[in-house]
Amino acid sequence: MEFSLTDEQQQLRRTVREFAEGEIAPHVMAWDEGAQFPSELIPKLAEMGFLGVLFPERYGGAGMGYVEYAIIIEELSRVDGSVGIIVAAHNSLCTNHIYKFGSETQKQKYVSPLAQGKMLGCWSLTEPEAGSDASGTRTVAAKRDGCWVLNGAKTFTTNGHHADVCVAMAVTNAGKKHHGISAFIIEKGTPGFRPGKKENKLGLRASDTSEVVFTDCRLPAENLLGDEGEGFINSLQILDGGRISIASLGVGMAQGAYECSVQYAKQRKQFGKAIADFQAIQFKHADMATQIEAARLLTYRAARLADRAVATGDPDARITRESSMAKLYAGEVAVRVANEAVQIHGGYGFIKDYPAEKFYRDVKLCTIGEGTSEIQRLVIARQLLGR
Ligand SMILES: Cc1cc2nc3c(=O)[nH]c(=O)nc-3n(C[C@H](O)[C@H](O)[C@H](O)COP(=O)(O)OP(=O)(O)OC[C@H]3O[C@@H](n4cnc5c(N)ncnc54)[C@H](O)[C@@H]3O)c2cc1C
Repeated sequence: MEFSLTDEQQQLRRTVREFAEGEIAPHVMAWDEGAQFPSELIPKLAEMGFLGVLFPERYGGAGMGYVEYAIIIEELSRVDGSVGIIVAAHNSLCTNHIYKFGSETQKQKYVSPLAQGKMLGCWSLTEPEAGSDASGTRTVAAKRDGCWVLNGAKTFTTNGHHADVCVAMAVTNAGKKHHGISAFIIEKGTPGFRPGKKENKLGLRASDTSEVVFTDCRLPAENLLGDEGEGFINSLQILDGGRISIASLGVGMAQGAYECSVQYAKQRKQFGKAIADFQAIQFKHADMATQIEAARLLTYRAARLADRAVATGDPDARITRESSMAKLYAGEVAVRVANEAVQIHGGYGFIKDYPAEKFYRDVKLCTIGEGTSEIQRLVIARQLLGR
């Protein structure tokens, strides 16, 4: 077992941290308060290679692996979880779905510009009536005159208003249930396709979470992504990687919350001494740091296994159990750590002048997005018990 990062990975962490502190930190609260999508940051993220982390250089990507991807999401989220989730949805959901299941023509046409950041991606599985039970999808795609015609609406799509390319799931054969849902690639501007209501959120407010609507949206046959009827099954594999994203998001935000509470505890004086000198506060920090480290190890283990699966070239290699465990634990740790960070700040943790308040709001997504904690427990139990 190897518990240390390579020199290159450590250098990558320093590079991302410097970028996040220079380019993101000064704007975090303004973006959050205004629920403002950081459009001006997208070309900078692209320039750094953060929009094509997982994809080979021949498709314009950075050619890195999941461990590097976890480090990038973690370091961006340590400063702003909104940026973390924008990058995550683009990389590991939208672009990865096309990269993993698309034809060579689709990869050339979409993965290359997405990986270079010339296009931004979103991925739509969830619907108002199909959340945890995504197989309850109601959006339909019917074959008409050699085309696919989509009708329905998706909800909670990260990057929905800003994406140039959307990967969406729709029912193509209701009788076949899990094997009757297909994936489609939809370009912005396609008639009948439009982003709908933008959600006004508790946290991650600078990220865009939107409805996307299909009204007689006609797509050429070649926009079917992967085999007909296998879109939902393929999505489960995409979510294996996606859960590494949310685990990394949780680790990063927990680290940010922990660091701001340490800094505060050292300078805040009560009863004539720094509150960091009280054992009650020290124990909180000891627990927070220990839990973050455990979450990070689970996350890196899942990432390492994902890299190994890619390296062995085994298309059926799955990391379902490990990615769900990492996501479950890291998500719940993030919520606990952010809660303690606010507590350590006392009343100042409740106001927006200190970053603890924002971490407290942002982390909650980690126990909900890409499968709630309850669903992760179901997935893990199924893996363990074979039922
Ligand atoms: C900020 C944000 C970004 C998102 N981004 C995307 C995105 O880009 N693309 C996308 O497709 N989706 C996205 N989602 C949707 C997200 O994945 C869903 O919200 C999530 O899967 C839960 O679905 P739901 O909200 O319908 O909750 P529900 O499924 O209605 O769950 C409600 C409650 O019931 C519990 N529950 C449900 N079923 C069971 C069960 N069988 N056993 C025990 N408990 C159960 C849940 O755990 C939860 O506590 C996003 C959501 C948010 C908030």
